[in-house]
Amino acid sequence: MRPSKFRVAICGGGVGGLTFAVALSGYPDIAVDIYEAANTFTEMGAGIGMWPRTRKIMRSLGLEDGVKKLGKCTEFGQSAPVFHYRKSDQPEGFDFFDLSTPGGLTMLHRAAFHQFLLDRLTHTQVTTHTSKRLTSYTQPSPSPSPITLSFQDGTTATCDVLIGADGYRSAIRAGMVQEMFDAGVDLGCLEGEGVEKLKEPMWSGTVAWRAMVPFQKLEKVLPRHRAMCEPTQYLGKNGFIIMYPVTQQGEKLLNFVAFRMKHDLEGTPYHGPWVAKNQSREDFERDFEGWETEVQDLIKCVEKPLLWSIHVARPLPSFAHKRVAIMGDAAHAMLPHQGSGAGQAIDDAYTLAKLLGHPLTTVSTLPTALAAYDSVRRPFAMDIMSRSREAGRLFTFYHPELDCSVGGDEMDHRKKLEEMSERLVRNWKWAWESEIDGDVKKALGMFEAKVGKGSVRNGVNGTNGYSC
Ligand SMILES: Cc1cc2nc3c(=O)[nH]c(=O)nc-3n(C[C@H](O)[C@H](O)[C@H](O)COP(=O)(O)OP(=O)(O)OC[C@H]3O[C@@H](n4cnc5c(N)ncnc54)[C@H](O)[C@@H]3O)c2cc1C
Repeated sequence: MRPSKFRVAICGGGVGGLTFAVALSGYPDIAVDIYEAANTFTEMGAGIGMWPRTRKIMRSLGLEDGVKKLGKCTEFGQSAPVFHYRKSDQPEGFDFFDLSTPGGLTMLHRAAFHQFLLDRLTHTQVTTHTSKRLTSYTQPSPSPSPITLSFQDGTTATCDVLIGADGYRSAIRAGMVQEMFDAGVDLGCLEGEGVEKLKEPMWSGTVAWRAMVPFQKLEKVLPRHRAMCEPTQYLGKNGFIIMYPVTQQGEKLLNFVAFRMKHDLEGTPYHGPWVAKNQSREDFERDFEGWETEVQDLIKCVEKPLLWSIHVARPLPSFAHKRVAIMGDAAHAMLPHQGSGAGQAIDDAYTLAKLLGHPLTTVSTLPTALAAYDSVRRPFAMDIMSRSREAGRLFTFYHPELDCSVGGDEMDHRKKLEEMSERLVRNWKWAWESEIDGDVKKALGMFEAKVGKGSVRNGVNGTNGYSC
């Protein structure tokens, strides 16, 4: 085995952390440790949508064939139906829009995708550790000294670069914010309480009811229900429902997420458990009282839904500080209304791996590589965060000129819905029209300009050790 040029610690083995580890496996001279807090690497049983931008990254990592086995993939460029839209917050709802996009949306079972990534971690330089909840780290100043990681079980470990992929309640984010504050970085907030707030996510004013319903059950109770034929979004004032089929180990399931929004409570504290399991269906039904029968019938099929308060990340002046960086939800937890949080974590993973794998990246140039990651990824991810927020507002008619709950007849409502659909597409088309390669090239260019150009072995489309 070749000696490694440096040791990367990835804190968190979710979709972001695992994709990053898989991407780093293409560089045999980088040693990787993944530290996961849970006693096993798992994901919840729910759906996850993957847009063409993300699917192209999967292809670059040699993972596309596997993704194709987990969910339907339309050829890039070929138009495919994505969601059917109905106005549903009334006794008789109506159809108003069909979203079709080039490449469509690949719908996966989250746990199956997570397991697929885990199975790709076969390289000897990647070591996984479970039951390792990181509580803090120390990053000494002279660059070559290792970073020390401390875990809840009292043990410690070291690394040369630390990447926080530890989700929306990230311990690394908290440590990094404190480090930046202590170093005099302008955090754009007041001292004390403001700094503490930056470490924590913020309630978005939204809660989500989540459930998976087996098709077998639906076929018996609601044999001709639309949900089994076409992925649908049911929209209404201050709430909407999204549903689409996913497959796990051959079993077809309906992924069901119903959002309730109190937009004006955004930024206020959420009172109650952030994730509440085994909730009563009656409370769920009450939240959608008065909605069309098609919706009520489906809610009746749900058993023990999960109630999830949706928290988002507060903006930071940087996703990196010296040899520590954050990625995925730790950096930019966002509202899920463009189905893009995991996709953005995968963007981070791919960009970071390209930078760390660069031949000029060494222990002493690591801070420059992470700064290039921050310069390119932070503006993009923050833009997607605000687009996701806007999507939620459009879906729930939270614009005075699009509010279908005030005045007018069905004709007026249809006009507003048409305008809403146009805005929706304009706001969302980055997901099927943009590609990451230009951004990666930009990040590598910034890095090379800072450290001096050498022999480059991993241009965006160059050979890098991956299978394709
Ligand atoms: C209702 C809903 C629907 C969504 N739908 C989509 C979708 O269709 N498409 C999409 O792209 N995104 C979607 N998302 C967003 C997506 O789920 C997240 O953005 C994504 O899971 C983030 O991945 P991550 O790896 O950054 O974090 P996580 O998935 O949260 O993983 C973090 C990992 O870190 C571990 N961890 C936490 N703290 C520590 C610690 N201190 N030490 C060690 N380990 C730790 C955790 O146990 C976990 O394994 C949705 C989100 C929601 C809420």
